[in-house]
Amino acid sequence: MVAVPVRSVEEQQRIVRGLATPLPVERVPLAEAEGRVLAEDVVARFAVPPFTNSAMDGYAVRHADVVDVPVRLEVVGDIPAGARSAPEVGAGSAARIMTGAPMPEGADTVVPVELTDQPRGEAPLPGRVEIRETVEFAKNVRYEGENVTPGDEVLAAGTLLTPAALGSLASVGYGEVGVVRRPRVAVVTTGDELVDPGSLLAFGQIPESNSYLVAGLARKWGAEVVGPFRATDDPDEFRAVIEQAVEQADVVVTTGGVSVGAFDVVRAVLAEAEYQAVAMQPGKPQASGRITTADGHSAVFLGLPGNPVSVYVSSWVFLREVLGAFTGRSIPWRRLRLPALEGWGCPPRRRQYIPVVVEPDGVRPAHAKGSGSHLIASLVLADALAVVGADVDEVTAGDIVDVHLVD
Ligand code: AMP
Ligand code: MG
Repeated sequence: MVAVPVRSVEEQQRIVRGLATPLPVERVPLAEAEGRVLAEDVVARFAVPPFTNSAMDGYAVRHADVVDVPVRLEVVGDIPAGARSAPEVGAGSAARIMTGAPMPEGADTVVPVELTDQPRGEAPLPGRVEIRETVEFAKNVRYEGENVTPGDEVLAAGTLLTPAALGSLASVGYGEVGVVRRPRVAVVTTGDELVDPGSLLAFGQIPESNSYLVAGLARKWGAEVVGPFRATDDPDEFRAVIEQAVEQADVVVTTGGVSVGAFDVVRAVLAEAEYQAVAMQPGKPQASGRITTADGHSAVFLGLPGNPVSVYVSSWVFLREVLGAFTGRSIPWRRLRLPALEGWGCPPRRRQYIPVVVEPDGVRPAHAKGSGSHLIASLVLADALAVVGADVDEVTAGDIVDVHLVD
């Protein structure tokens, strides 16, 4: 038998990214756009602020009139926010103005009400106002376009629409926006030993937990999850389930059945995919490719290993890349460099992804058995995966390690 060379994580990531094809664009109202990926570059239709306005409740004045204080000015009118016109402010006069109200012709500075003889809050318009303290020229004036001007590029295609991004879009004149359709992900679990969570276990059975890991992460990364799909290790049944999944999804993720066991159904049935050992632990056996059904449906295929921690790590490392590629965005994985608070062992020649707890002064393994791929019950404790290079045999307390947050 020819030994298959082990592939680097980066190379496998590059290959799975290359499987994705751009998804169609759809237009949605801003109220439905949160968490979506912007499909087009956006330029400002409006300036921000759209007109020069007051930053304070107070009096709009000519600065020359308030250099020597106290001074009494004639009040020529009121300018509330939303005013459609404003009285002109001549020499020796002032207009009462509210925050966000348009600056009147003639005025260049706003004196806050606190620096006058007038009360704060609701009060009749006075005939005169005494300015008791001066302010700098142009103080408390927000100029039209000082944030952006029409035509400025505000957001680039590929931007994740966070609350701040939506606020920005609204402010520059957009009520709806083009976004990339959410990738549809089907999770197909395999294994004769799997039962629904909550069921009692007969000899040799375990609860199915992988689908929660993959589906939850996929949603977190902006996907729509279709299914659920559960297959046994029977090839005909598995093939039938895969056909249904491919019909409904852009990405079909299987778990289990990709290693070299005697009953590895994924490997046996999906012969068109590529099966590859990747230099990582957990998550070494990986499969990838594109599956096309007899009636012409096609989907990207990721065949993850079966053990739950492998599934979790593989999702972070590969599914995240695929989903990003589908939406024209690189889904970030936040990294820190932190000291190890205790030591642990590492597998030879494979990059280790070990669930760790992040404490104020460093990280420690979430479980005494480290990166064991079956340690699903304690995975919840992990704030991050510490990523240790293939050339490292052992992490010693005090070593600085690369930490990828899983929040
Ligand atoms: P396999 O690669 O199919 O041999 O699976 C490897 C290990 O992962 C076995 O111990 C399986 O029982 C376990 N496993 C596979 N699929 C799941 C699942 N969906 N939920 C929990 N454990 C699983
Ligand atoms: Mg199996």
